[in-house]
Amino acid sequence: MTERLYYTDSYTAEFRAGIVDASPDRRRLYLDRTAFYPTSGGQPHDLGSINGIRITEIVDEEDGRIAHVLESPVASDEADCRIDWERRFDHMQQHTGQHLLSAVLLELFDAQTISFHMGAESSTIDIARPALEPNEVRQALERANRIVFENRPVTVEFRHASEDLGLRKATAREGDVRIVAIQGMDRSACGGTHVRATGEIGPILIRKLEKIRGNIRLEFLCGLRAVRRAHADYEALAAIGRSLASTLDETPPLVAAQIEKLQDAEKSRRKLELELAQARGRLLYSETQPGEDGIRRIRRDVPAITEELRAEAQSFTAGARAVFLATVNDPPSLLLAVSKDAGINAGQLVKEAVTRAGGRGGGNASIAQGSVPTLELLNEIVQQLR
Ligand SMILES: [Zn+2]
Repeated sequence: MTERLYYTDSYTAEFRAGIVDASPDRRRLYLDRTAFYPTSGGQPHDLGSINGIRITEIVDEEDGRIAHVLESPVASDEADCRIDWERRFDHMQQHTGQHLLSAVLLELFDAQTISFHMGAESSTIDIARPALEPNEVRQALERANRIVFENRPVTVEFRHASEDLGLRKATAREGDVRIVAIQGMDRSACGGTHVRATGEIGPILIRKLEKIRGNIRLEFLCGLRAVRRAHADYEALAAIGRSLASTLDETPPLVAAQIEKLQDAEKSRRKLELELAQARGRLLYSETQPGEDGIRRIRRDVPAITEELRAEAQSFTAGARAVFLATVNDPPSLLLAVSKDAGINAGQLVKEAVTRAGGRGGGNASIAQGSVPTLELLNEIVQQLR
């Protein structure tokens, strides 16, 4: 078993230890004692170096030993160890912040914490509650931050599992249990690294709520993470505010109003476009000379069959004795519109022609569209329709 220095002192950042075992390539080392924290309990492993060689992983092995995985081999029997302290202290802040937040959520809303995950940017806890209202989030934030200001001691003690431990969440551990306590607030069985007083957690920020399998996943940040995130949020909001020439607090209702305005404008633009297409259809009708059979024919190549095109075709064929045919090369497709007196059933004609060509389509007696597999087949149909 490796002696875990971080159990009794989370603040050891540099230490010496003996190398008691190693893998044949000497990149995986076992020390007699270590302050490096291995991945466990939702907290990522530490980084740092041994004899100047960078650590890539710290593993908590099943036999109670801790493996230190290095970038290159270490030949010596002695280890000169340095922990990446800034990263470790940040982890201690997030982890202690989690204990505090979990205790506050239980105290205020009887919401038990189910799980905890610490990420590189933010951390999450899942709580057994189907919802958390905005005012409840605010309440939890204020309560947690007040306890930070009170700078309550965070202590570690070892007690036997058979005793009445008074834990927030029962533990399945047997024998000696490591208990991390926030004075007057929380007692948790935990093997992680924590700060020594709540003041060191720094500001706590709750940021995002997500429903996960009937529970709430709550994203939070502590310390400099919270400061940096809040500043980044401010900058993003300020950029939006600037583009709207508005103050931050006025931005949300202004954005909502802008969206509504845009939707109205889009609706009226669509309406005008259809009206314009209809006018184009009428103009086209009046400018088109009838053929020898008295029918006015329009043949168009278009990039796509749109609603505007349909409106133009319908408007054109609203006049007497008119046929409107439009084709698209890619994908090969066509639109056929006819006036009631043209003596053609557009739906029937298009359906039969495209089905024969292995395509699909249809419509009603006055307007129809269809598509076929190739341009050659489309050209054949157009020849037939002439
Ligand atoms: Zn903990």
